[in-house]
Amino acid sequence: MMSPIRIPEVDPRRRQLLRALPAVAATALLAGAAPTRPARLGGATTTPRAAPSPSAAPPAGGGPATTPGHPPAPARPVFTLADYRRAVPGPAFPANAVALTIDDGPHPRWTPPILQLLERYHVPALFCMIGNQVLGHESTARSVVQAGHQVANHSWSHPSRIAHLPPAMAHQEILRAQDKIYSTTGHTPKLFRSPGGAWSPSLARTVADSRVLPLDWSDDPRDWTRPGVAHITNRLLAARPGQILLCHDGGGDRSQTLAALRTVIPALQARGYQFVALDAH
Ligand SMILES: [Zn+2]
Repeated sequence: MMSPIRIPEVDPRRRQLLRALPAVAATALLAGAAPTRPARLGGATTTPRAAPSPSAAPPAGGGPATTPGHPPAPARPVFTLADYRRAVPGPAFPANAVALTIDDGPHPRWTPPILQLLERYHVPALFCMIGNQVLGHESTARSVVQAGHQVANHSWSHPSRIAHLPPAMAHQEILRAQDKIYSTTGHTPKLFRSPGGAWSPSLARTVADSRVLPLDWSDDPRDWTRPGVAHITNRLLAARPGQILLCHDGGGDRSQTLAALRTVIPALQARGYQFVALDAH
């Protein structure tokens, strides 16, 4: 089936490549061109890439803004704060900014202590919530918003193959979560994080049609695999300014994530890093 969207399907290995590439090369890759620096594949899963310079990549794909009467153009996923600021106009982020995103909740066991930790250090975070996790945990979801944090749409049921679902089903995954998050918290998510970071041309179009911005990440400690507190801690301590960090409060026992964040947040702040909100309203 031909697709008018000029974004190739992105499988997990390809995603590692995308995250390893400079933004301008990643843009070319998403646009269908061959990567120009394949040698950077090595170490993609363990070496965080430096944030691209502000002039490293041109605006690509447009943002969520649309012209009345015209369908929204698919945007390429946001991997870094520089990507985000190109897609969502606003004041420049501080030079030492990083963003913390927390996926797969809300969870009544793990979300509250994470909220307490964030409050202690005055750190804003973006919680990427699964609709059917909000269901039954409404008060936990509301506590996230009441604490001043942002909420993103992370699908209704976290289907691992969302990039391959028929568009109507993918659309329902997004809209059902959107409705549940809004009816529970009063907040309409403007960002959509695909389960597993899976993207495809079809999903890109569906996301655009759903009027949400595709959000990825630039630093993944793989905390959901429970690799040990030291692994998660060291991976997050390797963060560089401009990165979007990924952690989880749902999907299982998140004690390792919580323990790592207790070390990482004050350590990064002591280094002069500033946690910023992804302020899409
Ligand atoms: Zn997830």
